Amino acid sequence: MGIEEKLPSGFLLTTVEGLAGWMRKSSLWPATFGLACCAIEMMATGAGRYDLARFGMEAFRASPRQADLMIVAGRVSQKMAPVLRQVYDQMANPKWVLAMGVCASSGGMFNNYAIVQGVDHVVPVDIYLPGCPPRPEMLLDAILKLHAEIQRMPLGVDREKAAREAEEAARKAVPTIEMKGLLR
Ligand code: SF4
Repeated sequence: MGIEEKLPSGFLLTTVEGLAGWMRKSSLWPATFGLACCAIEMMATGAGRYDLARFGMEAFRASPRQADLMIVAGRVSQKMAPVLRQVYDQMANPKWVLAMGVCASSGGMFNNYAIVQGVDHVVPVDIYLPGCPPRPEMLLDAILKLHAEIQRMPLGVDREKAAREAEEAARKAVPTIEMKGLLR
């Protein structure tokens, strides 16, 4: 029982946060940014068979100033890291980062000095997508999960509170190197 039951038909009730989240998730523009083999799968996701355009995302922007989603598709070399950071810094706010594939997420099988061991050393990552390479269906699934996160994103003071809570949780998390049985 709520106010919506008292209203005549033709009225729609929502919140500013809900409306802003819906508009943001429905108009994500990815930056054109492919680094290695994963980029081929990302390109396939934008082509006719998988049709990323269904989700309002057909426009991969060549300028970071017109993009708000960075899909890190492939391994990040140490030389590329500052370039990646510069592209991220030039993107419009609010912005999101998707680490596509095991290389972008953790360095993957390239456990060496030339490759950044996870792009979260360079930019904040919103969603990690495993696989080598992840199929276009997996990328679509990750994008839809990110859409759900964006839809729930709080605004104003609520957003600052959520950021503080996330930072606190990250500080309390067990570092991966201390997770017995996972790496040794
Ligand atoms: S995860 Fe696999 S497909 Fe993707 S960049 Fe690394 S090696 Fe290439």
